[in-house]
Order: sequence, then C-alpha cells, then structure tokens
Amino acid sequence: MDIDLSLNFDIPTVKLELPHLEQFGVSISILRLDLIHPSISGNKWFKLKEYLNDFREGKIKGIVTFGGAFSNHLNATAAACLSENIPSVGFVRGQEGILNPSQTLKDCKNWGMDLWFLNRKDYAKKDDLDFIAALENEFPGYAIVPEGGDSEKGRKGAMSIADFIPENAEIICVPVGTGTTICGVVNSKKPQQQIIGFVPMKGGDYMNSAIAENCSNLGWSLISDYHFGGFGKYTPELLEFIREFKKTHNIELDFVYTAKMLFGILKEIEKGQWQNKQILCIHTGGLQGNRSIEHLFS
Ligand SMILES: *Cc1c(COP(=O)(O)O)cnc(C)c1O
Repeated sequence: MDIDLSLNFDIPTVKLELPHLEQFGVSISILRLDLIHPSISGNKWFKLKEYLNDFREGKIKGIVTFGGAFSNHLNATAAACLSENIPSVGFVRGQEGILNPSQTLKDCKNWGMDLWFLNRKDYAKKDDLDFIAALENEFPGYAIVPEGGDSEKGRKGAMSIADFIPENAEIICVPVGTGTTICGVVNSKKPQQQIIGFVPMKGGDYMNSAIAENCSNLGWSLISDYHFGGFGKYTPELLEFIREFKKTHNIELDFVYTAKMLFGILKEIEKGQWQNKQILCIHTGGLQGNRSIEHLFS
C-alpha cells in the first residue's frame, strides 16, 4: 500500500500577514488541521476518532459509511481504517465510478475499502431505517457511520478540536458541510468565543435549524453568501483566490470548503466586520479533493 499513514498532531496556528487589512485592526490565524495527514485530514480524523476507539476496544468489527465520488470523508475513512486494520465498507453515490472511478475512489479501493456503488435513487435511502437494518444484517457488528460522519460520535470527536484552539481566539471560523464539526466546536467553546460557520451550499440558511438541533450552546451564526454557485461549484475568481493565497501565504486551500470560507472572511473584514478581533480559522483539510480540478491549476 503506497501510503504513509503516520499522523501529525503537532498542529500549528499560523498568523496571516495581511498588510491591506491593517486599518481594521483584525488578526487572522489559521489552525492547520490540514497538516494532520494528506487524506485523514482536518476535521475528518476528529469525526472518526470515537469509532476508531470503539474498534480498539473491541466494540465494533468494522465501519460502513457513505459518500460521493470525491468525498473527503470516504477517503479519510478508508485511510484511517487501513492504518488500524479496520475492515471498511463504502457505499458510493452514483454508479459512474464502476467504470470510471475518481482518484478518491481509486485510493479507497487501493486502501482496502470494499466499495458498493448505488444509483442515486437507492443512495437517497441510505438513512432509512429498513436500509440501515439490512446493512446491520449484512455487516454484523459494524458501525454504520452516516455520510460525512454526521452522528453523535462524530460531534463528540469534533469537540476535541478545542484542545488545539488558542486561548485568545475571539471569533472562530469553520466551514460547514453536514454541520458535525461546527457542533463539536460550538459545544466545546469558551463563553467569550463566537463561532461563525461558512456554508458552501447555495441557499445554505437551511443549515441553521439542522445545527441548532445538535448545538447545546448559543454564540454561533452562519454565513452562506460565499457559495460560488453551490456545493462543489467554483468560478475563475475562486480559483484565482486559491492561487494567490498559495503564493502569498504558502497555504493550499480546497475549493469546496476552506477557499470559500477564507474568501468570505476577507470580504467580510473589508466590509467592516470583526474590527480589532482575534480571528481563528480552522483549516479543515480536504486537499485530496483538489485533484479533481488539478488541471485548472497547472
Ligand atoms: C467534510 C469537510 C467539511 C465539512 O464538515 P462537516 O462536519 O460535515 O460540517 C469542511 N471542510 C472540509 C475540508 C471537509 O472535508
């Protein structure tokens, strides 16, 4: 298996040099969860950590989970399971990957994940009780991990991201997909901290109620203006932002989540938000996904 599975928990917080924003008095730092591992990166390791513990303690026999052809969660689960010798099963949305697999799916297969391809109609039933019951029957003793790790255990694992957040952070920015990570961060936050979620989906305000259900604390809000056309969509402006950010700060951003968040943060500051605040952005990783648009960066 052509993969280095060592994890790095020496996670740095890097302050950005932003001379053009000096007038606003803000400080922006990035918590580099992307440096944990190229595939088991960012928030994904945290969302899986409770399941990995369950396997070590003999409570589960393997992991079944779900995702699309470019899913960071599937990729991370396959790699994390390989590293701990955990049998893994991935249900993939869409059947194109049978003949024409993405890099993400090729990795998963190479790392030993047992891939099952569902058409979109069947995939949509993945959370139905009778489908889950059928899975429990087919894979006895396995943990059934919802898409994106969106579960109580996922949120619990994400709470330990707080261990890496500097004390002085006043505004903490985190990208939102299923909302699992932001719930972990909100549920473990200090009273004086304000959590801002950046939603990369079009019309993303619907995430407010989904998150409110699982967040015990107040002190959070969502910004959903910076979706660039919708989930997984991008524009020349976003790609140019990723290139410039890499050149200026030597940090790569993924086009689905972290680039949209950083773009949004800088725009909000230019509009006068968060003056004189210490802002911490969580780099949730996801860089394996940039391979699907690699040709646009060369
Ligand atoms: C999965 C993912 C997210 C979204 O996390 P949720 O816990 O689903 O909200 C954010 N950023 C990156 C890079 C991701 O891969």
